[in-house]
Amino acid sequence: MPTKPHIPTLIARKRDGEKLASSEIRSLIDGYTAGEIPDYQMSAFAMAVLFRGMDAEETTALTRAMMESGETMTHPPGHPPVVDKHSTGGIGDKVSLVLAPLVACTGVWVPMVSGRGLGITGGTLDKLESIPGFRTNLSLDEARAQLESIGVVMMGQTEQFCPADKKFYALRDVTATVPSIPMITASIMSKKLAESLDSLVLDVKFGSGAFMKTEAQARELAESMTRVGREMGVETTAVLNPMDEPLGRSVGNALEVAEAVEALNDNGPADLLAVTLELAEKITGLHPVRLYDIIESGEAMLKLEELVVAQGGDPDMLEAIVEEAHPAPVIREVPAPDTGTVARVRADIIGQAALELGAGRARADSTIDPAVGFDCLVKCGEPVHQGTPLCRIHARSDVDFELAETMVLRAIDIEP
Ligand code: URA
Repeated sequence: MPTKPHIPTLIARKRDGEKLASSEIRSLIDGYTAGEIPDYQMSAFAMAVLFRGMDAEETTALTRAMMESGETMTHPPGHPPVVDKHSTGGIGDKVSLVLAPLVACTGVWVPMVSGRGLGITGGTLDKLESIPGFRTNLSLDEARAQLESIGVVMMGQTEQFCPADKKFYALRDVTATVPSIPMITASIMSKKLAESLDSLVLDVKFGSGAFMKTEAQARELAESMTRVGREMGVETTAVLNPMDEPLGRSVGNALEVAEAVEALNDNGPADLLAVTLELAEKITGLHPVRLYDIIESGEAMLKLEELVVAQGGDPDMLEAIVEEAHPAPVIREVPAPDTGTVARVRADIIGQAALELGAGRARADSTIDPAVGFDCLVKCGEPVHQGTPLCRIHARSDVDFELAETMVLRAIDIEP
């Protein structure tokens, strides 16, 4: 009779750089999902994978085991194309909030399963949950019904859907074990493959505010994810995008929803619009001008409102999410110390500052603060004058404001 593997031995073998068999990886994932393997052993395993890596076969086995840890979506015969995009994570990356409703207006189905904040990067689920009433823990039956009625769902991993990623993602977030190509591949691709997609576009970020610091690492991650996607029968393409400065001008959960709403009201920042249209074109094959028309006409904003209503949220709060739903007690500007041109806005420092303001988690059971973060951030290349604002900080207290202000001044370089 086969016995269960001895977990400390599996961890030690990975620590020592050995290759694990697919059945051993499956045992680890199944045991962890069932609660038989505790967090401390899975954390040690994650750290061993971070340092030692996994080859292509192990990465596919990890992805498959995580994908099959729960049920997968099924779509009815004759369904429209089922498509999605996923980002590897960045600072101020609220593209999904704009792209999902936009793309759904073109007649495809978008069953978008996202994650929470991870490391210094924000997560779509945390942003969505800043909309009062919005539910992200849908059952697969609810998701299916919503796709049929409005063509778009934005939800998280649940006990029923990708439970292994739900637990492992939260553990990696707080154990400094995110930046690993095999683990990011398995985390993203397990969710996306369980959506039973026809096609997937991956937005792979590189730079100070991304998990992959260099373009070469991002290319390696893109190749790993596209290989797994294609092996499992999903047309998968990847786009590489820099993440040296935050995307848009806002960072923080409710603040990013507000900026996404501005973008859908045709009043968003240019870089957010550009990345959204680039990815939406890859997904739909439609020209960016046609996609932009959908934003300009207000159709995409109406789709977001439909989505919010369908998932229990209050659509009237969308336009007032910062002022009415989540006003932070302290909202103050940071004046520029010098006159000149903005040469650098370091996304990693801004992301770390947002985390320390309370926008992310320090422990798996921490709650996040939807109100805190930054808006009106300057962008690289813009002129500033001494005393004019570099950004506004939304903080819980004066002490938090001061800490964040120090970090903002470190993050932004101004050249004469
Ligand atoms: N997004 C995910 O879903 N998982 C990761 O590991 C990184 C980004």
